[in-house]
Amino acid sequence: MKLSEMRGWLAERNIRLTRSLGQNFLHDANQLRRIVAAAELSPCDPVLEIGPGLGPLTELLLARAAKVLAIEKDARLVAVLRERFPASDYPHLELVHADALEWLRQAARDWREWKVVSNLPYSVASPILVELAQSPQRPERLVVTVQLEVAQRLLAQPRTGDFGLLTLLVQLDYEPGPWFRIPRRCFFPEPEVDSACVVLRRRQRALAEGAARETFLRLVRRAFSQRRKMMFKLLKADWPEGRLAGAFDGAGIPLQSRAEEVGLEQFVRLARGLTA
Ligand code: SAM
Repeated sequence: MKLSEMRGWLAERNIRLTRSLGQNFLHDANQLRRIVAAAELSPCDPVLEIGPGLGPLTELLLARAAKVLAIEKDARLVAVLRERFPASDYPHLELVHADALEWLRQAARDWREWKVVSNLPYSVASPILVELAQSPQRPERLVVTVQLEVAQRLLAQPRTGDFGLLTLLVQLDYEPGPWFRIPRRCFFPEPEVDSACVVLRRRQRALAEGAARETFLRLVRRAFSQRRKMMFKLLKADWPEGRLAGAFDGAGIPLQSRAEEVGLEQFVRLARGLTA
């Protein structure tokens, strides 16, 4: 979808874009192709797209996937999409007019066979990623375009400023794969920062399940509630001191560590130690 086409649809319908909905549309054909290639779609794949906008990505997904479920919050854009992709020609498109975050929270679905391919709206990118990654039957792959700063948090290593709750809540079940930067000039209107497309592949085996998983979630939320504070002190609000000390020892975590210094595997070991 060319930039001139985008401008045409918006002008024809007198649509003024809404900043709070993160409406920056990707018009660079090369970047759109790279995103779709990163999804490695096969003709039997179902795809979830959040925030299809004017449909530049949707168009490519519809040509390659078995079906596309697209959730868009802005009614004006839903109307454009219905016109661009009429049901008679695109029976494999299911277009939902809803707030994607609310919709995901309402309807527990089995996403295990699904791939998510989306240029996510900035304001809800992180909660949507957590919602998808934490869903019991989570998607096979997430190919998401997000602001560079969010991408860095998804890919972060311990002992860096980007490493935090988002990193752990997503990396618990997803291995970060390849990623690439998308310059701001590829979007219309041009945002103030660059973006990146990140591939996240669901782990073959979950690192923590059942009660250990619940402990992990409680643990990391508490540990990062004050990231500069010693984690041991924070966790005493939830677990007895003696038990904590034993679990820290078992996980090989020094008692004076701050949460940002502790890696994913150590958090998992600590959660197991506190669950047994
Ligand atoms: N996919 C299109 C593209 O790449 O050009 C548009 C991406 S734009 C960054 C984000 C889209 O998400 C906008 O169309 C916006 O209206 C929509 N959006 C914003 N908040 C949303 C929400 N909570 N649920 C669903 N869609 C939302």
